[in-house]
Amino acid sequence: MQPIQPARGTRDLLGEEQRRHAHVIETARRVAGLYGYDEWVTPIFEDTRVFSRSLGETSDVVSKEMYSFPDRGGDSITLRPEGTAAICRALVTNGLTQSLPQKAFYAGPMFRYERPQKGRYRQFHQVGAELIGAAEPLADAETIALGRDILRALGLENDVALELNTLGDAQSRADWRAALVGYFHEVADGLSEESRKRLERNPLRILDSKSPADQALVADAPLIEPFLSEPARVFWDQLRAALDGFGVSFRHNPRIVRGLDYYSHTAFEFVTEKLGAQGTVLAGGRYDGLVADMGGPQTPAIGWAAGVERLSMLLDHAPAAPSGIAVVPAGDAAEAMAAQVMQTLRAAGLRAEMAYRGNLKKRMERANRIGAPFAVIVGESEAVRGVVQLKNLADGTQDEVPIVGLAARIAGACSAR
Ligand code: ATP
Ligand code: MG
Repeated sequence: MQPIQPARGTRDLLGEEQRRHAHVIETARRVAGLYGYDEWVTPIFEDTRVFSRSLGETSDVVSKEMYSFPDRGGDSITLRPEGTAAICRALVTNGLTQSLPQKAFYAGPMFRYERPQKGRYRQFHQVGAELIGAAEPLADAETIALGRDILRALGLENDVALELNTLGDAQSRADWRAALVGYFHEVADGLSEESRKRLERNPLRILDSKSPADQALVADAPLIEPFLSEPARVFWDQLRAALDGFGVSFRHNPRIVRGLDYYSHTAFEFVTEKLGAQGTVLAGGRYDGLVADMGGPQTPAIGWAAGVERLSMLLDHAPAAPSGIAVVPAGDAAEAMAAQVMQTLRAAGLRAEMAYRGNLKKRMERANRIGAPFAVIVGESEAVRGVVQLKNLADGTQDEVPIVGLAARIAGACSAR
């Protein structure tokens, strides 16, 4: 029979790959904790409206990437393509809009129907942080500093650069939008068909186009800066000053608009040159309208999400596979004793394993093969006396050790190594 392959764009995470993933997620979780974040876990699937209402009908995600389907009861369900909208939904439905600010960290799989390639999958994983209920630029700066510190804790500080932009407030964007529509109408003949459609529905989206023809025209499109309202300009100045306060360096990139509709003021991306076209590893911005889109009160918020697969690929080495103590019975009659010794080690917090078959020689060979630092050889008559042989597989030395002191002895030797 032909084996059934994994669905297109999905991957199994085993061994070294999973250790990389886990390291990225655990590091992000730990550093977010230092910033006062709590972890929130929201469902993998939501009512489709959670995303269609908030991300923008013309965004790539909503218009062509969502996994949406009617369930057996006829409700429209969507596998979550991102985390922010669901966190805002959870804030509102859990009655937390009066207990602000809230700092939510999340980690988990996301689903987008995209063309799979290196660093781009249909099921991928994100870690993210959302700070809800703070309107001050200081909050934006701290949230960006959290992202930077996670990248630093992963050893990636020299591989990534922070690019920052402002999208202004609603007034600034309306004025800028009018200028963009004027400009793109003039050059409409050179735009991709998709961007000509965007011109009618959501001209800002053209700035995020991945088509090379569009990108050439985008290069000369008007920038937002001259259209910033006075409050938006003040916010932008304060943000940059606050980032200096957190010791975060950045480059102003006026072309960053982000792919989703909900951003205002701050937009940023940490990018690398090491991953080709999939170079954005952590990205986000301010989304002051999103909680209201979920039926809550008008609530300011700022956050980001990072791609775990892309960060995993950048790690220069994978965390080592853990190796355990090999417990080796000297003959079948000692197996029960060996099982007891193994349970003693595990109860003391040590990783211990025993092969299920084979003579002493075979089992010792296996202990070496799996990279065990120690083998504990359990002989029947010795075990009756309460002792075992402890063999250090790195240097070959062996001595007799009482079972009572075995775990402490091994733990001491491991911590000294
Ligand atoms: P891109 O421009 O690469 O499509 P995006 O703007 O759609 O990214 P966001 O929605 O901001 O991405 O998601 C945040 C991060 O999640 C991205 O910077 C990236 O690291 C990761 N990411 C997004 N889509 C995928 C995917 N299909 N596969 C793997 N990682 C992804
Ligand atoms: Mg995308």
